[in-house]
Amino acid sequence: MIEDIRLTAADADAVGTGGVLDDRVLKAMEGVPRHLFVPEEERERAYANRPLPIGYGQTISQPYIVALMTDLLDVESGDRVFELGTGSGYQAAVLAALGCDVWTMEIVTELGEQASAALAEAGYRGIHFRAGDAYYGWEEGAPFDAIVVTAAGDHIPPPLIDQLKPGGRMVIPVGSGFLTQQLMVVDKLDDGSVRTREVLPVAFVPLTGGH
Ligand code: SAH
Repeated sequence: MIEDIRLTAADADAVGTGGVLDDRVLKAMEGVPRHLFVPEEERERAYANRPLPIGYGQTISQPYIVALMTDLLDVESGDRVFELGTGSGYQAAVLAALGCDVWTMEIVTELGEQASAALAEAGYRGIHFRAGDAYYGWEEGAPFDAIVVTAAGDHIPPPLIDQLKPGGRMVIPVGSGFLTQQLMVVDKLDDGSVRTREVLPVAFVPLTGGH
């Protein structure tokens, strides 16, 4: 799987990566048992470089996309990271494997329960999980060094920008309906202003909720 990610990264050449992803990220992913985060009937495909269905109309992202997003988050051990959209729990596990303090929220309660069970089975403890609409972030955990959004809406949620530390980054797919989504990096500068850049066209499940 890791070799396939390297090949896809070279091929896709996402803006700013030079087609090469951080070895620390790939090493961390090598150690995460992805089969524990996919349904029984998908287990033989768990290490293929493709997204898979996880029930409730949702998907576990393609490993290359997880690697790219994690690379772009540019986290260090000890960083506090918020994730919108726990889904299978796999992205949260990768961040925990990198030593991050992970705060993750999922709107589909049943998926969140499955993810919590998978994270415990895989041995990741200390991940903060809550069911609910993550559009509004998680005030008790803020401010965050980094935020990863794994569902696409038509704008960047303002509460998440508020909950990002100055000097921090958010990685987020933006776009909806028939528009092409773009994976974006949002940098919050030390003076609190925000810079955005587009990295790659992507296809994520929609951001839901009542906002
Ligand atoms: N990071 C996940 C990817 C899951 S797909 C993984 O590694 O498997 C995106 C997830 O975002 C879905 O499970 C979906 O239910 C969830 N989601 C969509 N809108 C949301 C919202 N407003 N708040 C929290 N979760 C949301």
